[in-house]
Amino acid sequence: MNVLKFGGTSVGSAQRMKDVVRLVSKRGKNIVVLSAMSGTTNSLVEISDYLYKKNLSGAKETINALESKYMDTISQLYDTAEYREKAITDVKARFDFIRSFNKDIFTLFEEKEILAQGELLSTTLINHYMHEQGINSLLIPALDFMRTDKNAEPDSEYIQKKLTAILDENPDVDLYLTQGYICRNAYGEIDNLQRGGSDYTASLIGAAIKADEIEIWTDIDGMHNNDPRYVEGTKPVSQLHFEEAAELAYFGAKILHPTCVLPAKLNNIPVRLLNTMQPDAPGTLIYNTSATHTIKAVAAKDNITAIKIKSGRMLLAYGFLRKVFEIFETHRTAIDMIVTSEVGVSVTIDNERNIQPILDDLKKFGTVTIDRDMVIICVVGDLEWQNRGFEAEVVNALKDIPVRMISYGGSNYNISLLVRKEDKIQALKNLSKHLFS
Ligand code: ASP
Ligand code: MG
Repeated sequence: MNVLKFGGTSVGSAQRMKDVVRLVSKRGKNIVVLSAMSGTTNSLVEISDYLYKKNLSGAKETINALESKYMDTISQLYDTAEYREKAITDVKARFDFIRSFNKDIFTLFEEKEILAQGELLSTTLINHYMHEQGINSLLIPALDFMRTDKNAEPDSEYIQKKLTAILDENPDVDLYLTQGYICRNAYGEIDNLQRGGSDYTASLIGAAIKADEIEIWTDIDGMHNNDPRYVEGTKPVSQLHFEEAAELAYFGAKILHPTCVLPAKLNNIPVRLLNTMQPDAPGTLIYNTSATHTIKAVAAKDNITAIKIKSGRMLLAYGFLRKVFEIFETHRTAIDMIVTSEVGVSVTIDNERNIQPILDDLKKFGTVTIDRDMVIICVVGDLEWQNRGFEAEVVNALKDIPVRMISYGGSNYNISLLVRKEDKIQALKNLSKHLFS
């Protein structure tokens, strides 16, 4: 059995919903995970915001606008009055429920109930449409099996037990349908897995049922080998290691968040990124083993600040780095890249919120210089150190560009380089030309 997850844009209109249903109906008995229609969760956040601020008319207006969007979708989705009526009744009930939050108290609990409505709406609409199309689908409510524990972490044992029981009790269906993102917490209250959490749902379900594969369907044909906004002729990467995917995600590539795929990684379940617009394209396969002896992709992260601390005291001293790192820890600032020499250390950070106190403290230890508006270029692939020549190729591709820092050897999958913002596009282009053509 596979898990097939469709994001907000993939179910963003009546036509898209029809496309999704056609696609999944050909694929056999799988579990289909759906996000809310695109824009819905944002609207629900806005509604909650009005309710927090006791602006009932603002809330009402937003609710009405959202409801009419759903009514439009219904009018375009169904062929028969029978199913249109069913859908209208269910959608109206959901919106009446949202409207009922007009009383004095509005807290996090109420907000979470409102945020849950998006996925409840999309799955209801699609389940009715599947039935109208003669597909014997079963909607299994995520709130019956998706649960977090007292630490707000998914309760994998509970999820597995509950979900397998539900599947065992309902063997005679064509496919199962469920909501992404929503869950219950340890106290049984409605909760969620954070924004964008439907991918996490898919990965948790995949792990729970030991799926053959988890498919994440979006509107791009997998992870590209460079940023298509800046470089022409980028291509989808056919295979990535989970660690490579994690590096790329961190460095700004539009790809799954590493925590979302952790359950899949730990259970050795392949994750495939696919495109609803081009369902036959192979997409990108992310797994615990991957093609070796190749460099796979490049990504860039903007707004990086490099800080160099030079100190005579660092010479032959131990404990210097600890003192430097402690300063960043005290000021709650994460370090991305680190490069050291015997007389100095350079680090990068991606937010300057606490830069002044950091600099003040660092100056107690040495001479501090700072370079702003820098960009980290991250190259991933088989960069295991005993391979020959890959790191040389990367550096060679950037031979005409001033490089402020290079970091290599931190993992087997990555080499990072820090360049100026104005050199970013050229750097990305040179790397593509050198490595992928
Ligand atoms: N609907 C939720 C959101 O917009 C979850 C998701 O789409 O993954 O964040
Ligand atoms: Mg080497």
